[in-house]
Amino acid sequence: MFENVEKIEKANLKNFNTFKIGGKGTVLFPKNVFELKRTIKECKNNKLKYFVLGNGSNLLFPDYDLDTILISLKNFNKISKKENFVYFEAGVNMFSLNKFCLENSLTNLEWSFGLPASFGGLVYMNGGAYEHTIFDYIRRVKVLNDNKVVWLKKNDIQFTYRKSNISGIILGGEIILNKSDKKTVENKQKYYFECRKSTQPLNYPSAGSIFKRKNDIIPAKLIDSFNLKGVRIGGAEISKKHAGFIVNVDNAKSIDVRALIDYIKNKVGIDLEEEIIILN
Ligand SMILES: Cc1cc2nc3c(=O)[nH]c(=O)nc-3n(C[C@H](O)[C@H](O)[C@H](O)COP(=O)(O)OP(=O)(O)OC[C@H]3O[C@@H](n4cnc5c(N)ncnc54)[C@H](O)[C@@H]3O)c2cc1C
Repeated sequence: MFENVEKIEKANLKNFNTFKIGGKGTVLFPKNVFELKRTIKECKNNKLKYFVLGNGSNLLFPDYDLDTILISLKNFNKISKKENFVYFEAGVNMFSLNKFCLENSLTNLEWSFGLPASFGGLVYMNGGAYEHTIFDYIRRVKVLNDNKVVWLKKNDIQFTYRKSNISGIILGGEIILNKSDKKTVENKQKYYFECRKSTQPLNYPSAGSIFKRKNDIIPAKLIDSFNLKGVRIGGAEISKKHAGFIVNVDNAKSIDVRALIDYIKNKVGIDLEEEIIILN
């Protein structure tokens, strides 16, 4: 099966997510839309579930081996500049994106510097930081839906906090970027990265904020108000630096993280909604 696509069978899934957690699984790396379509067809013909993998920075894999086939778009990594916008393919990571913006003195996305995401994953999640979200700058999104490539204009897409209604696989998107000067872009990127370093526990593997903000509730503040920083189950710990993060401090297992999530919900007495996506 999957003879005509780059693949890793029995891949150690710890290497495919920023939490560094998981059993084994099959990861496929189509090179283009033709291979992607063929891969999906093969999954469907063999009644196999599939899941699109970005940079794995918002995922929790199970400890056991995963039956679901992971389709990585890391080979979709081209960037093309048009007049006042840039097309980024879904697999471009935010480090390459920001490097491109710096080299071309383009402003608008400096807030995303240091985000360990792929562009496709950021669009899917409507990720954001420091009062910006990626949808603030989207022009159009290119999607593979029902075996057809379609362009969705910004107005055709509904997006809310850490959520969009895009169905199908995001192939790429056009982002509106403005001309600036290199030094200003560089200073802004540095500034936002410093903000990240000073508040987030970047020295341990994690998947970022575990829970979504809900109305006025900021999970990190709520969890901290119950003095839960540093609580540990197995190798997973509520970060001592940022109570909204669970960090992998010592070979954490998926079940440790799940137990800690349940523990937090019980303690705070509010049914917080997970921002991370938990695969079974
Ligand atoms: C240290 C750290 C800091 C973080 N800081 C922030 C932050 O400031 N703001 C923020 O919003 N998030 C943050 N995150 C969370 C994470 O980076 C974002 O949720 C990001 O958008 C996930 O992108 P990804 O490429 O890693 O996607 P993945 O984690 O691989 O996948 C997330 C979801 O997107 C889907 N997906 C991925 N690519 C595609 C595609 N091409 N088409 C369709 N669906 C796709 C996946 O199927 C999955 O459902 C942080 C995470 C870490 C580890």
